[in-house]
Amino acid sequence: MRPDWITATPPTPNGNLHVGHLAGPYVAADVLRRFQVAEGLRPKCTTGMDDHQNYVVIRAREESLSPDQTADLYGAEITEVWQRADVEFDRITCPRADPEYTPFAQRFFLKLMSSGAVVAKRRALPHCDRCSTWLFDGLVAGRCPHCGTPSYGGMCEACSWPNDCQEITDPTCRLCDGPATLREIERFFLPLQPYEAELSSFWEQVEMPPRVESLCEDMLSKGLPEIAISHPSNWGVPVPVDGFRGQTILPLFEMAPGFLLQWGELDDLPAQGSVNFFGFDNAYFQVALIPVLFMQFEPDLPLPRAFVVNEFFRLEGSKFSTSRRHLVTGAEALAAASSDALRFHVLANRPHGRQTDFSLSGLADTQRRLEENWNGWLQRLVAQLQTECAGFVPAEQPDGYGWPALARRSQRALEDLRDSYSVRGFDLRRATVTLDQMVEAVNEFAFLHAHCQSARERQQSIVAQLVVASALAKASAPVMPRGSRRLAELLGDGGTSSLGPTALTPLPAGRPITPTDEPLFGAD
Ligand SMILES: [Zn+2]
Ligand SMILES: [Zn+2]
Repeated sequence: MRPDWITATPPTPNGNLHVGHLAGPYVAADVLRRFQVAEGLRPKCTTGMDDHQNYVVIRAREESLSPDQTADLYGAEITEVWQRADVEFDRITCPRADPEYTPFAQRFFLKLMSSGAVVAKRRALPHCDRCSTWLFDGLVAGRCPHCGTPSYGGMCEACSWPNDCQEITDPTCRLCDGPATLREIERFFLPLQPYEAELSSFWEQVEMPPRVESLCEDMLSKGLPEIAISHPSNWGVPVPVDGFRGQTILPLFEMAPGFLLQWGELDDLPAQGSVNFFGFDNAYFQVALIPVLFMQFEPDLPLPRAFVVNEFFRLEGSKFSTSRRHLVTGAEALAAASSDALRFHVLANRPHGRQTDFSLSGLADTQRRLEENWNGWLQRLVAQLQTECAGFVPAEQPDGYGWPALARRSQRALEDLRDSYSVRGFDLRRATVTLDQMVEAVNEFAFLHAHCQSARERQQSIVAQLVVASALAKASAPVMPRGSRRLAELLGDGGTSSLGPTALTPLPAGRPITPTDEPLFGAD
């Protein structure tokens, strides 16, 4: 297995990081990173802040802050929630703080302009005469011209198709709710149709789920659009071209140079490309626009090797939304449950391939299951080790009624987890089911052996359970970094954390196991 460049889509700092974000790209990207580190690889996991969306400007107006204050406030909050949820990145680019960012994005833009990929065109754009403002992206509301769902400008969250804002049906102004008028203005566009052949051969190689594949097939059959890549605005990276000084570059265009800055050294990009985590609403830009930008900027740039895509997370039946304030924030969820429980819960309910639901009562159930099934078993095991063996690993081999089956089952679980954590078989809902089943199986084994008359048999069953406990510490580490670390410490396991063939090995006889009153899993 080779180490990956793992990227998670940059969040927009126009509100708190919510549970839907955690269940989407972020915890999942962190699981892949932790798994690869445990396997002895050195992945690089990166993201950034999508500062320049005009959703930030809208939120700033609502809260009587400046856009900079809003992006600073929520950018810091998002970073803090990542930390509290143990989502770690090697690099988080901050467009407004990084002195390289704007010059690089402008250089990128100019290079595409000089090659003819980016062209100026005079087209209509919605305008609010009452507010004296051009309406684009988050500023214009209406219906998606492709699927008819209520949508903002730029792209549709339901079908992922882009629009150039003037195509929005019944456009209104988000600031005053008044009707928009269409006015002509010269902007920059990137026509995607000339890259049809390159895109379709790229799509044949990259790994992606069927819904995204069918979006690509749709794009090819309906024709690739022209993407509007500049708008009249003073928020964002200024278009570095005379005559367009009052315009800024489309934030989704910026993501291409932004990705390259996340990696850092342009002459040292990983040859196999990146693994990109994002929500389906971003799919069009991730699979079509950004690859074309990479190809046009530098034909040798490695294109992504896999897209890991999530659907929407729903709260009480409708999707999490920052702009509609329909959400449970990460901070609220972390007040209700531990980081481990929240991670386990959002992965167990991950919107992988379909929309799924979140509820705080479901999160409480997960927290309780960790305490009862996981910690309950481990506490009984450690207590038994004290009374039977004075707290030392007994000099017996794992054995007993049901042990060969439990050993095989645990071995299969470890193999299954390796598949679920790896890019090709990535399925974290399945990983949480497998982990829970491992714990259930060893619980059953423990209850059966509590009836043993012979001390030797009881000791053999303790050794058997310790084998599973040690494997569980490794197996659960990508999902629950805190509990797994505490369990490994309790067992004195400091060495390899690989899920390879040696994961099911008895602990050395005579090793002391010091009981702890602290809960292992599901505590902060
Ligand atoms: Zn749509
Ligand atoms: Zn208006």
